[in-house]
Amino acid sequence: MSDEATDRTVLLSQCRAAVFRAATVTLMAVTCPSRECGVTVSVVDGVIGAHLGMSGECPLGEVRVVDDRVAVADTSEAAASS
Ligand SMILES: [Zn+2]
Repeated sequence: MSDEATDRTVLLSQCRAAVFRAATVTLMAVTCPSRECGVTVSVVDGVIGAHLGMSGECPLGEVRVVDDRVAVADTSEAAASS
C-alpha cells in the first residue's frame, strides 16, 4: 500500500479517450493525457501501464487513474477556464 509508484493519480477526464469493457464497466485502456505522449495504454487494476512516450519512458506510467466521470458534469464551467 505504500508503493511510491501508485502515489500519483490522473483524472479520467484528463485522458483524451478511455476504453471500457462494456459488460463490467471496467476501465481497460486510456489515451495517455501527457502532451508529449498521447498513446493508448492498457490499464490494469486502475493503474496505467508503463509505456514509452516521445522522449523515453512516460512519467504517467504506473499512475493511478481516478474515475471522475460523476464529477465531470459538475465541473464543465471550471474546465473552460484555460
Ligand atoms: Zn504517456
